[in-house]
Amino acid sequence: MNIATRLAPDRRLVTSFIDGAAAATGPGTLIEVIDPATEQVVGELREADAGEVGQAVAAARRAFDTGPWPRMSSDERKAILYRIRDVILQHRDELLALEVMNTGLPVASVAWQVSRAAANFEMFADVASTLAGQTFTQDPRYLTYVTREPKGVAALIAPWNAPLALASMRIATCIAFGNTCVLKPSEYTPHSILRMVELCHVAGLPNGVLNLVNGRGHVTGESLVSHPGIDMVGFTGGSETGRSIMAAAGRNLKPCILELGGKSASIVFDSADLDQAIDGTLMGIFSNNGQQCLAGSRILIQRSVADRYIDAFTRRARAIRIGNPLDPNTEMGPLAFRRHMERVLSFADIARAEGGEILTGGKRAEGFDAGYYVEPTIVLAKDNEARVCQEEIFGPFASLVLFDDPEEAVAIANASAFGLVSYVWSNDLAVTMKASRDIRAGTIWVNTPMMRELRAPFGGYKESGIGRDGMSSSADFFTELKTTSIPY
Ligand code: NAD
Repeated sequence: MNIATRLAPDRRLVTSFIDGAAAATGPGTLIEVIDPATEQVVGELREADAGEVGQAVAAARRAFDTGPWPRMSSDERKAILYRIRDVILQHRDELLALEVMNTGLPVASVAWQVSRAAANFEMFADVASTLAGQTFTQDPRYLTYVTREPKGVAALIAPWNAPLALASMRIATCIAFGNTCVLKPSEYTPHSILRMVELCHVAGLPNGVLNLVNGRGHVTGESLVSHPGIDMVGFTGGSETGRSIMAAAGRNLKPCILELGGKSASIVFDSADLDQAIDGTLMGIFSNNGQQCLAGSRILIQRSVADRYIDAFTRRARAIRIGNPLDPNTEMGPLAFRRHMERVLSFADIARAEGGEILTGGKRAEGFDAGYYVEPTIVLAKDNEARVCQEEIFGPFASLVLFDDPEEAVAIANASAFGLVSYVWSNDLAVTMKASRDIRAGTIWVNTPMMRELRAPFGGYKESGIGRDGMSSSADFFTELKTTSIPY
């Protein structure tokens, strides 16, 4: 099936969606959207300039200042957010097709991401509807109480690697608490997000609560995050981008929640169930085409089990089924866009130059007429100082480092600018407890790959982020606390 043929001519062009309607098509840079599996142009987006971003912010402001959304009870908002969940699930196949077309992710891995998008709306509707305030009566002549209020208009910026799952997370955590927003998705993946935004309105979201602008980061994104009319910024993307976004928001004294990059250590101790560790580390680095913030991209292996582990891990990586992302049997599809593929491949040369040994991969996958397909790549690095161990490559590229004892493993894990997650593979309770305590990362997964509990805080230490998504952490960012004292 050629998914490009599914897009009706009037669905190819992606424009802004402001105040409940597609923005009128006018002048504006047109940017081609390319299906990474076919390298065919499947659509265009019309880039929003500063003026159009201003219109979107004004719509979100009107909806916040005078619209029904912030004034509804949380149960009324919850009813609409539940309908959004249902409508997303009713349009699962359509969203799936658009997401695969934009990202090249295998349909099997996108399927759960559509479910995750629906779950995000349900989860944060529940969180918002169960928030409680506080009262203080220590001085019996006064009642002092603390309430939470929506904070205002948010600028939300999303990446391309899991568009629906990540944008829905940002939207849901923001609007569930009564805020309004302007979303800018990645310029590489606009179609599924536009459809999700439309579906939110089909489900009854009032106009102006969720506005969408499309375009490149340095044009549309910068106009949005530096706009004086926004009250906060929610960003998911790379750490370097996070730096410029925080600087822009800082000039207007606006708070940011930043979910950024990673170079997470996956530590295989000699006390691990090796089969389980091999399954888990393979999934940790090669699922989602290796394009995941939480990838276990640095695999640290205890020397005593290194030969056995590396042999099996490499064999299994070579057997990963690369192919058309629409084939349900495909395990790895093409990378998201050409420049990204070229960057990932450049790390094979970097690895060789810095004394690493390429155990498999390091080149484009053969047998494809078109598409940004790359072989699963494994490099035995000279040491943890190597660039392949320090820089986020964001592709199917595993960097292996050997260690002798648990203390050394933790030291290597922590010798990184990042601290998003870490994986610990061991059946020795003392080893797992000490590693979990001493590793500086926001989430530790012990003998499990990627158990993402949406209720629990998720975010990074160090350059992996500022702030946390999750139940009370999201509420803390997206609400203001107000203290009122009344004598009586
Ligand atoms: P990116 O930083 O290049 O872009 C992210 C978004 O920011 C895009 O929409 C882009 O257009 C926009 N942008 C770029 N420059 C901007 C600017 N100056 N002002 C405003 N917006 C700007 O990231 P990416 O390549 O789309 O995504 C991959 C990165 O995202 C990786 O580093 C990955 O680890 C990270 N990520 C983190 C998480 C997390 O939860 N921590 C989740 C997914 C992805």
